[in-house]
Amino acid sequence: MKNITLLFFSVLVFGFSASGQIKINKLFKAGGDLINAFTLTDDAVAEMSRRAVLALDSMNKIDTSAYALRLDSITKDLSVDGLNLNFKVYQRDELNAFACGDGSVRIYSALMDAMTNDELVAIIGHEIGHVARNDAKNSLKNAYLKSAAESAAGSVSKGVAAQLSQSQLMELTHALASAQYSQQQEYAADEFGFEFCVRQGIDPYAMYNALTKLSQLSKKPGAHASALLQAFSTHPDSDKRAEKMKAKADELQH
Ligand SMILES: [Zn+2]
Repeated sequence: MKNITLLFFSVLVFGFSASGQIKINKLFKAGGDLINAFTLTDDAVAEMSRRAVLALDSMNKIDTSAYALRLDSITKDLSVDGLNLNFKVYQRDELNAFACGDGSVRIYSALMDAMTNDELVAIIGHEIGHVARNDAKNSLKNAYLKSAAESAAGSVSKGVAAQLSQSQLMELTHALASAQYSQQQEYAADEFGFEFCVRQGIDPYAMYNALTKLSQLSKKPGAHASALLQAFSTHPDSDKRAEKMKAKADELQH
């Protein structure tokens, strides 16, 4: 009797999981070989982020003169364990910057106009903080799973493309360059940026100064919407971010 019960139980469980697996395969079919929630490995996410950066690089005008020279002079001695940092400037009038898991860091020219060198290092540190704490990776992962589910629902019969569709790639670039993070994630990235400045021998008030500036800029009417500024308008307590960084710098001074 016990064996029969066990058998029934097994059939139930196995039967359920087999059909569940088929549904899941269908759901993520459109994602090709990078696929589904269970097999979406770190390598696959790294490959997706690499492709997203390449796509963004090809869609933007990359500065090769004054901005590039300045960024090079600011960043030539920066390093982070485990990341092969590389930097580029996009000629854009949005105040924005982002970092990617492969060590790519992209700064928009308007942000360089608005910030001092030390403040730029602080912002670079903040963005790398999102990478170090996996915020950036999770944002990409979620965007991919969402786009895979959507395209599967829309075009299951279209066959499996062993690569990202153009629209999926666009969603990934958006998740990379315009990710919206929680207030907790922003606080943690600020902490990382602060420590980053201290480690690189930069003014410990640089993170405070950069956040103060961003907060003021976000209140300007007609300010260009950017992920960096949106963090201040979407999180009501964002002004506290600068104060926290000031307290940390004060503490270090004493
Ligand atoms: Zn952030």
